[in-house]
Order: sequence, then C-alpha cells, then structure tokens
Amino acid sequence: MVDEGSGAMQPWQRTAMGANLLSFDGSSPTGSLGVTIFEEMTSLATATGAINLGQGFPDEDGPEVIKDAARLAISNGANQYAPGKGFFNLRSAISRHQQRFYGLIPDPETEIIVTTGATEAIAASILALVSPGDEVITFEPFYDSYGAMIALAGGKHVTVQLKAPEFQPDLDELTEAFSDRTKVVLLNNPHNPTGAVFGANILERLVQLAHQYDAVIISDEVYEHLVFGAETVVPAHVPIATVPGAAERTLTISSAGKTFSLTGWKVGWLMGPADLVAAVRTVKQFMSYSSGPPFQNAIAQALELPDSYYTSVAATLKGKRDLLITGLKAAGLAPYTPAGTYFVNADATPLGVTDATALARALPELIGVAAIPVGVFCTPEGAKNYQSLLRFAFCKREEVITQAVDRLAGLGSAISTSGLLGSLK
Ligand code: PMP
Ligand code: GLN
Repeated sequence: MVDEGSGAMQPWQRTAMGANLLSFDGSSPTGSLGVTIFEEMTSLATATGAINLGQGFPDEDGPEVIKDAARLAISNGANQYAPGKGFFNLRSAISRHQQRFYGLIPDPETEIIVTTGATEAIAASILALVSPGDEVITFEPFYDSYGAMIALAGGKHVTVQLKAPEFQPDLDELTEAFSDRTKVVLLNNPHNPTGAVFGANILERLVQLAHQYDAVIISDEVYEHLVFGAETVVPAHVPIATVPGAAERTLTISSAGKTFSLTGWKVGWLMGPADLVAAVRTVKQFMSYSSGPPFQNAIAQALELPDSYYTSVAATLKGKRDLLITGLKAAGLAPYTPAGTYFVNADATPLGVTDATALARALPELIGVAAIPVGVFCTPEGAKNYQSLLRFAFCKREEVITQAVDRLAGLGSAISTSGLLGSLK
C-alpha cells in the first residue's frame, strides 16, 4: 500500500526538489521556460517550417472506425465522469488484450486501472511507491518524465548506461546499481529514445535482482506493438510480467497512443497485483480522477481489432525505419538500427559534430529538419556518453520521410558553408 514515508519532508519541500529539475535554467538543453524538449523542438520546427522528426507523434490518425466509435460515444452520452478506475468495458478489453498477446489474465476489477495516458500511470506509480531517499533505477538515457517524477517524489535516481550499438545494459553494472535502498526499478521496453528491445537475459536478471532487493518493477511498455524483429535481439515484445517470478511485483503500463496512432487521446492503463494497483489508484484519483469517457469507449473497441491490424502497424513502421536509416547514412550520419519504437538514434561524429544539442538547435534553420538530442534524456553526468547522438522519429508519412531525407542529404555541406562547425564541437 502507499508508503507515507518518514514524514521528514513537507509537501512544499518535495515540490521544490522537483522544481529544481523542472525549472531548467538557460544553460540547460531545454531552455529557460521549463518546457520539455519536445515542446521546444516542435515550436522551433513550426517557426522555421522544418519537417518535425523531433517530437514522437504520427502525422496520420489511427483507424477511422475507432474515431467513429468516439464520435458515436459522444452522441450516445458518454460525456460525464468515467469511474475512477475506468470503464469496465475498457478494463476487460485490456485484460483480453493481455491474454491474446501474452497469456496474462489480469482481473479487470482489481488488477487494472485506466489512466490519463501512460504519463499519469508513471506519475501515480512513482508517487505511490517512492518515499524521499528511496532509490529508483532506470536505464540511461531515459524518458524525460521519469527523472522529473522521481525528483518530485524525493527519490534518488540511479541509472545504468545503455551501450551502443544495441543499447543493452551490462549485467554487472545492472547488478551494482541495486542496493538496500532500491525501491523501484523503472523499465521501459521497447526503449525510448534508443529503440532497444531488451534481451531475455536482461529481463531475467532484473527479476532476480528485484526479488533479492525486494524492489517493485514498473514496466513502461507503450511501444509493445512497435517491434520489428531485428536479427540480434528478441523478435517480439516480451512483457517482463511474463518472466517467472515477476508478476507478483510488477506494474505494467501501456497506452493507446502509439499502437493506435491516437497520442492526443491520452488513454493509458496500468496493471499488476491488486495491492500495488490499489496503491497507485489512491494517488491517481487525486490527479485526474478519471478522463476521456468517449475515448475510453472507442479504445475498448480498438483493442479488439484483429491481429492483422497490430502486425500491419509494425510492418509499415519497419519500412519507414529503413527509409530513414538509408537517408541518415547518405547524409553522413551513423544511425543505429532500432529493434522497436519509432525512433532512430544517429551519431553525428562522422560529420565532425560532437555537440548534438547545438546541432539540434541549428538543424531546423540549417536544413529544415528537426530532431531531438539524446543528451536531454540523461543525467548531467550521463549526458557525456550520448552527446553526439540525435534522435529522429519515423512515425511520419512516407513522402514526409522522403522529403526529410532529401533535405538531410545536404547536411554535410550546409554545416561547412554555414561556418558553424566550430560551435558544434
Ligand atoms: N512512456 C514513454 C517511453 C513514451 O515515449 C511516452 C511518449 N508518449 C509516454 C510514456 C507517454 O505516453 P502517453 O502519451 O500515453 O501519456
Ligand atoms: N513520447 C514522445 C516522444 O518521446 C513525446 C511526448 C511528449 O511530448 N511529452 O517524443
């Protein structure tokens, strides 16, 4: 259940700790306004007319039939508060989805709650489980909300580096990251921003260590259906909750945003053992309470789409991934092929650029394409290991990627004629 902590820290102190992280100063890659890097780069792309391969959102909506279902739900009166834990039809559709794809059967009454996107599920889980001073382990780089939420909870963020080219962690370093203070290990698989899909050996070691140190696993699996079956890693998504011994201590989080290309609907969910889910629900009810009744109804239907829908999402994205990778190579960058997600990381070092943050800021003006520097997904210490990497999103129409690739082809010469090279090192 919710741990109240020692009571040593007042709520305002907790907020102040989070605010340190959230109110970035001008020297931070995210600028002085405290906006996320995604917002900053999207604004820059809009202002310069650049193709936005920065913020990860598709430029085509999900299935028409699901949009129709939301319209119908509005007409039929699904317009007042949904229950705090979400509509039963959605919770049972989530349970059936877990059974169909992974053989898991969470109880829709006690083991699943609907959240306002995966973001709220992540926030409520961390606030429910982490007390000031507790340690939370994530891989690095990490999705930006993890660092902010750990700070807001007063937790200590411990990171384990992912190493190119496959961005898998070293098992010894993973083991060393655990301590008696470890409360939560926050996994993201498939992984944003690197596109890594973690091997069975990593998942098994994580479960074994979580047992040894009595830690809860929070597993963010929003990209569960965006897996390409790369040759060198596991071919399809394996939820960590299916690893023997994991289910009893794992909260699994996902959302409709990526799978159904409906990121703005913010329909997410969380599942796990009843006591942990109840603890998260306690916090969640004071965040949004509940949200999006018509969207919940529509996503309940979306989850029942046939297997062919899910496989076509991955297959279409795989073609776009390969198109972008070919273009990034032609531009003189060194891309790493992702096994999942809709992001590819590319090293700018072959172009003589080692400061990808400076390059990301210059890129929209320089060649009309926006990307995100991977260093912003890092702690200040960790950032140096990723400072020459840029993340490009390929969840865009093929013609848009083709146009971006055409523009990127001029990158090397644009850098040298601009005279900027000195400031990009
Ligand atoms: N986790 C990861 C790893 C993500 O990339 C995102 C991006 N959208 C989220 C969580 C947030 O998901 P949602 O939009 O459902 O809140
Ligand atoms: N998940 C998206 C990304 O990584 C962004 C979501 C957001 O803007 N907060 O690009």
